[in-house]
Amino acid sequence: MIDILETPFFLNEHFESIQGEGNYAGANSLFLRFHFCNLTCSWCDSKFTWFGNERNYVEYSSNQIKAIITSHQAPHIVLTGGEPTLYRLDKLVVANKKFHVESNGTFIPTEPLEIAVRENLTIRRDAMNEAIISQFNWVISPKLSNARQKLNDRSLRFWAQTSYSIFKFVVRNTDDINEVETIVNKFSISSFKVYLALEGQTLESQLKPSLVDEIVKRGYNYSPRLHVMLWGMQRGK
Ligand code: SF4
Repeated sequence: MIDILETPFFLNEHFESIQGEGNYAGANSLFLRFHFCNLTCSWCDSKFTWFGNERNYVEYSSNQIKAIITSHQAPHIVLTGGEPTLYRLDKLVVANKKFHVESNGTFIPTEPLEIAVRENLTIRRDAMNEAIISQFNWVISPKLSNARQKLNDRSLRFWAQTSYSIFKFVVRNTDDINEVETIVNKFSISSFKVYLALEGQTLESQLKPSLVDEIVKRGYNYSPRLHVMLWGMQRGK
């Protein structure tokens, strides 16, 4: 078995674009997409980060990733995946950039982690420094039952209580909105933290005013998916 201690960081790709979703939609951003995920969502649109045994990632040290960040002009840095909390994200901070994390919310970053991500590959990391990561904008996306994944009650309670996170849910219909409401009530999530985006891979899928009306009626925020509207499912956007 290969044991990975803290580093390297396995990066699948990086690219500049706009943040498509959430509370910073439209922000000029550099995306760092980390490889591997602890879930296997049925509709995952980035399966290339975890499916199969291809070595389609590059190993970097924290200093090498910082060099990538500083070589780009984008003021916002989006740490995504895969599941980025498999890695010590607090080691990647550089000055004058705003950091964002897109996570499925199944891990608590201030706790150490050890997880087998593939046969013969275990990732270990220490707890992240909360003083650092509390400066990040955390976008937590728990998966609804349509993804066929289990929620982690303990970690969702953590994220519901933090002041530095928002929740983003992807919904297809009012049944999904009802499911969001159940989760929001169960974990006492403030509705000002809740953003709902529409599922789909085409511009047409994003133009459903009656569903947005329903989101507004329930007291939640609507998140566009600008990258889907502009570029569909094109990679690197
Ligand atoms: S958590 Fe995200 S990256 Fe992981 S399988 Fe689900 S949709 Fe894909």
